[in-house]
Amino acid sequence: MTTYEAVIGLEVHAQLLTHTKLFCGCATSFGSPPNTHVCPVCLGLPGALPVLNQKAVDLAIRTALALGLTVHETSVFSRKNYLYPDLPKGYQISQYDLPLATSGSLSIELEGGEVRVVRIRRIHIEEDAGKNLHGHGGDSIVDLNRAGTPLIEIVSAPDLRSGAEAALYLKALRDVLIFLGVNDGNLEEGSFRCDANVSLRPRGSNSLGIRCEIKNVNSFRFVQKAIEYEVMRQEQILASRGTLRQETRGWNERDGRTFSMRSKEEAEDYRYFPDPDLPPLRIAPEVIEAARTALPELPAPKRERYRRSLGLTPYAAGVLTIHPRIASFFEETLALLGGDASKIANFIQTEVLAGTTLRGLDASFPVAPWQVAELLRLVDDGTISGKQAKEVYAALVGTNASPEHVVKARGLGVLRDEAALEALCRTILDANPKQVAAYRGGKTALLGFFVGAVMKETKGSASPTLVNAILTRLLTGLSRTAGQRHRP
Ligand code: ADP
Ligand code: MG
Ligand code: ZN
Repeated sequence: MTTYEAVIGLEVHAQLLTHTKLFCGCATSFGSPPNTHVCPVCLGLPGALPVLNQKAVDLAIRTALALGLTVHETSVFSRKNYLYPDLPKGYQISQYDLPLATSGSLSIELEGGEVRVVRIRRIHIEEDAGKNLHGHGGDSIVDLNRAGTPLIEIVSAPDLRSGAEAALYLKALRDVLIFLGVNDGNLEEGSFRCDANVSLRPRGSNSLGIRCEIKNVNSFRFVQKAIEYEVMRQEQILASRGTLRQETRGWNERDGRTFSMRSKEEAEDYRYFPDPDLPPLRIAPEVIEAARTALPELPAPKRERYRRSLGLTPYAAGVLTIHPRIASFFEETLALLGGDASKIANFIQTEVLAGTTLRGLDASFPVAPWQVAELLRLVDDGTISGKQAKEVYAALVGTNASPEHVVKARGLGVLRDEAALEALCRTILDANPKQVAAYRGGKTALLGFFVGAVMKETKGSASPTLVNAILTRLLTGLSRTAGQRHRP
């Protein structure tokens, strides 16, 4: 039994989905040759002046409101001064004592179903640094394509208690950002990164212990592992009455350990001061209210609505809200077809998602919602069987053909010729006199046996509803005739 409790606070850096950088017109696109998206502003050349990207501000406001933060009418850009090759100006433009927004929260569902409210202290806007690339013919080079890319930093209170909780929080946060359309959620390309602050305290205590900050871990799994390792390391130090140092640590995935990088710098080391090139950022109350009104439905309330109002299972609700494009696909199909949401959800899960690829915020679907709606309508009205729907679906994939057209072209369609079906039903009944007698004797569950036989005979092309109706009529009709025969 451990006597210590882990205390974790996360600082997430999320790249805002703008086409251009925070203070200049350079492109933010990923993967170009080094130093091809640069200009005097993001190179930090003397005399170049920054101009704030309005789109970045809009996206930051949207995020802050969605997470329940108060957006301030005035915030200030400051210079955070430090020397590093990937920082050409010698300072990073960030927000410090007057950030864009403060005091919000994000609720996460823990393993046992318990809901934990994680407080969010602040969200501020800042620019990204460049990237040092090592090993270019023995040299290191600096790539400044990323320098000046707009980021928001989302700082949580130290409300998380384990690596697993931290991973849940990060996933929930990424989902929210993706649904808001402010971030592409791409951890591999570094557009969603996190620093994890970890400390221990005696169980039951309310004070905060000495913390270590693990820098830039870029996968949910690694964050969890890094925190778990760090908790163990700190526990051992405390248990052996050693002293912890406040420091910045890195994560080495290869040996599964954190390692010391440097002692933690203090805010005063950065000599923050308001950037004289940028006026205070003023946001009118009407702008804030308009952004609040325009907020889209977030993943957690959406899941809840799918479960409560549409009657989906928790699993289906979860799958359909993995990505905003999947949710839209489902909602569009439902709007076109109406009726049973579970049936549509099932079809999307079993057929459509199998051929869907997700990449960041983009998704490519094998078919369109109108095709699914039309296909399911053909099943509903008995034109084709469920089995035939799969065949039609396979023919629709990658085309914009109409399901109805495919059905006609292939000569599909269920047998709906009542006279022909009735004749077939009679043959089946004649061939099974024992079962007919049993049915009439009260074993009505045998209806399924007769339906099955007819479906087999028609290779699944008969309308089950119609076959059901005909068989019931014949069986009850026959028993009535039989009864009449015994009357005097
Ligand atoms: P800094 O100015 O060094 O970035 P902050 O006070 O702003 O420090 O906190 C940064 C992050 O560290 C926040 O997410 C916060 O919740 C977390 N944090 C602060 N103190 C502790 C602690 N003792 N243990 C764990 N996390 C902490
Ligand atoms: Mg920090
Ligand atoms: Zn530039």
